[in-house]
Amino acid sequence: MAWYDSCEVVIIGGGPAGLTAGLYASRAGLKSLLLERGVSGGQIVNARVVENYPGFPEGISGPELGEFMHRQATKYGLETLATEASRVSTGHTYEVSTTEGIIQAGSIIIATGSEYRKLGVIGEERLSGHGVSYCATCDGFFFRDRQVAVVGGGDTAITDALELVQHCRKVYIIHRRDQLRATKALQEKAFSQPKIELVWNTVVDEIVGDRMLKNLRLRNVRTGRSSNLEVDGLFVAVGFKPNSQVFSQLVTLDEAGFIATDQLMQTTAPGIFAAGDVRQNSFRQVITAAGDGAAAANSAFKYLY
Ligand code: NAP
Repeated sequence: MAWYDSCEVVIIGGGPAGLTAGLYASRAGLKSLLLERGVSGGQIVNARVVENYPGFPEGISGPELGEFMHRQATKYGLETLATEASRVSTGHTYEVSTTEGIIQAGSIIIATGSEYRKLGVIGEERLSGHGVSYCATCDGFFFRDRQVAVVGGGDTAITDALELVQHCRKVYIIHRRDQLRATKALQEKAFSQPKIELVWNTVVDEIVGDRMLKNLRLRNVRTGRSSNLEVDGLFVAVGFKPNSQVFSQLVTLDEAGFIATDQLMQTTAPGIFAAGDVRQNSFRQVITAAGDGAAAANSAFKYLY
């Protein structure tokens, strides 16, 4: 029997939420195991520099921040296992099925994050981090006095555009329909912002550039006409995909698949908590994911003792 066959807390996902949950759970003396299917650190490993995480006035590279979080969490006894959770079932305790076998858990913290939905067009992957971004809060600052575009028509796209006008000379919002999905209040703010220009009924067909993004090849879906738009940055804001599928029979998800929790990170299943980007109404920042993780670990401790 492996030591991890039975744990007090199993944390699924090794991004900032999971690693912080692991730090707090292990420091609380709980026998804690973190399962991570990929690289430790979650989405921040893709960030060239993180400038808005407190404590690092000069900024810190995403991979380095992830590595620091991992080192700090494991220092207090958190164990980690490179495996993917494929199923969680209930019984006397919870049972997590993984590629390494079944693990019994008194409590579970789901911190599996979400993925940015991609456009899936030519140039997107290659120029990601070279003009193409999925996070205005993280990267907007790099486009000071530049001309950028946001693609999408939901709350994120409009919030991003309104944030980007603080830095940028001009912000285009490219939307595939002639009506925004975003809430009215946000729409009105965008419409009254002189630096924002709406490009209606339009999709991005190709993102063009050698080493850096140079321009966008656009197509009007009504007329079929193609055009070029010269921009220095493209912010893709076409929604998120939460990594919650495995838990859909276990806890309540909202329409978009995010896990519903209360303020203490409690899901609808006793002893199961969710933290970070996978949960409903997450602010999707490293700092808030870390905060969620701390709260989830505290709630797991209170559930167990
Ligand atoms: P969303 O509401 O799903 O909107 C996605 C937008 O992207 C839609 O306008 C959609 O167009 C467009 N889109 C989707 N796939 C596309 C594609 N392949 N090409 C071009 N456009 C595409 O996602 P979200 O804006 O990220 O918001 C997610 C959730 O977070 C929502 O519940 C939102 O209310 C919430 N949120 C709230 C705030 C806030 O300040 N309160 C801020 C951010 C997010 P269509 O409209 O044509 O479908």
